[in-house]
Amino acid sequence: MSAEEYDVVVVGGGGAGLAAAVSAAEHGASVLLFEAEKELGGSTQLSAGMFTAAGTSVQRGLGIEDTPAKFFQHYMDLNQWQLKPGLVRAFCEESGPALEWLIGLGAEIPAKVSHNAHSPGLTRAGVEDVWRAHVPKDQGYGLVQVLDRARRKAGVEAVLNTRVERLLIEGGRVTGVVADGIEVPAKSVIITTGGFAQDPALVTRHYPAADAAGEDLFVVAADGSRGDHLAFGEQVDAAIAGDGWGLLLPTAYFQRLHHWQSGFPPVSRVLVNAHGRRFMDEDASYAVSGGIIDAQHGPVWTVFDERARTTLPAGYAHWDAGHVLAEAEAGRTIRAGSVEELAGKLGVPADALRATIDRWNTNLPEDPDFLRHETLAAKGRTEPPEPIGKAPFYAARTLPAELVCTHAGLEIDGTAAVLDARGERVPGLFAAGEAGAGVLGPRYVGGGNAVANAITMGRVAGRTATHSPSRSTP
Ligand SMILES: Cc1cc2nc3c(=O)[nH]c(=O)nc-3n(C[C@H](O)[C@H](O)[C@H](O)COP(=O)(O)OP(=O)(O)OC[C@H]3O[C@@H](n4cnc5c(N)ncnc54)[C@H](O)[C@@H]3O)c2cc1C
Repeated sequence: MSAEEYDVVVVGGGGAGLAAAVSAAEHGASVLLFEAEKELGGSTQLSAGMFTAAGTSVQRGLGIEDTPAKFFQHYMDLNQWQLKPGLVRAFCEESGPALEWLIGLGAEIPAKVSHNAHSPGLTRAGVEDVWRAHVPKDQGYGLVQVLDRARRKAGVEAVLNTRVERLLIEGGRVTGVVADGIEVPAKSVIITTGGFAQDPALVTRHYPAADAAGEDLFVVAADGSRGDHLAFGEQVDAAIAGDGWGLLLPTAYFQRLHHWQSGFPPVSRVLVNAHGRRFMDEDASYAVSGGIIDAQHGPVWTVFDERARTTLPAGYAHWDAGHVLAEAEAGRTIRAGSVEELAGKLGVPADALRATIDRWNTNLPEDPDFLRHETLAAKGRTEPPEPIGKAPFYAARTLPAELVCTHAGLEIDGTAAVLDARGERVPGLFAAGEAGAGVLGPRYVGGGNAVANAITMGRVAGRTATHSPSRSTP
């Protein structure tokens, strides 16, 4: 590593950082990228790579009419207008071009319907009226490979295994970084260090809702999600946006891994609250499901029967027939010989639970109360769920406990410039992804929100950092 001055130094080599580095190089900047871990990719590499965008060639190929303006309206409404419209408009307008850019770099996203996060194509992201989640071939890993190839082609050096320690600041302007004790000068610095899910103290401070999961909380974000952006922000008195927000996915208490490894609950199940009543579509998008569960203000259980348990597909760590049986034998998953006995063990009204199960069974194959059949159809399922009727019956406590990403970070504007406590731009400093906050809101708009934010705003940051006034011409 040399101590020559770079036009742009990028701190963190996940989706946002790689997009920023490639974009800055495309605009003619000399760029150096630091990555704390042994390999590039961060949480982006672990993700499904789903990417929300509007007005894309993929949507057009499927005859879907969509616009950034519609995306903006949906995004703001779902987040109850608690975000800055200017920034969100920039994101919604830039996400389509960012997706086309990825396709141009080699990402494979065919114009075909996909029913899940594993088949490349277009799928339903959340609760939007127009499908917007673009699933790339090889998921997040595939996107990282595409961006990394472009990085190498552009001649951008990536320094791995090197955790940037602090920013260099001169006269209120960010002038570089310190890594491995070496000062590396730069005209602009882009912070793309991801979130802070792996730092329990920062989670307590900036996303206390996650602590409500107690012992059941588990983190699937990448190891490098240590919240370094917040420490860098303190150096320049950066404003923090997104405080208190993040994404917790609902899971059964015994899941400890992302569902790709933990497995999926049986289709034939109902979620019930302390009144023994169903209260939601069990397959509702996580754009809304965590909030609906929280709104019960009490315990929630996934209820299923012996047939559902014994037909769970093999090969998963937790939603597996043997594992569920072991949990029941240990008394942690509640098991009973009848629905009424199960209700007694859960402390919910037996007549209500009986009525809930009977209504679910009688209405099959449809679900007029929560329209779950529509969600299952969108997921490509053609067979209706089986009735719940074969003893013994089971109940597994269910709650939002899988911590995927965090939203508190350095407040940015629509050009990805970091703002200080007064709302003024910090000269020479940019941020994107989970580190650059203001796009990810109180409600996750659906699968694809965070990867789209990282790559879109990373690309914007690379462009604006390159063209920001240099240190010598303030
Ligand atoms: C299992 C899983 C599945 C997901 N699926 C989806 C999905 O399909 N769609 C979606 O939209 N979102 C998804 N998400 C969320 C999404 O992947 C992330 O929010 C997004 O990729 C974050 O990108 P990023 O660039 O901000 O951070 P990251 O990709 O985490 O990159 C940050 C990088 O910075 C590095 N770093 C940290 N500190 C330093 C430092 N001081 N110096 C140098 N380097 C540093 C880290 O090691 C890391 O490599 C998923 C997340 C997970 C964990």
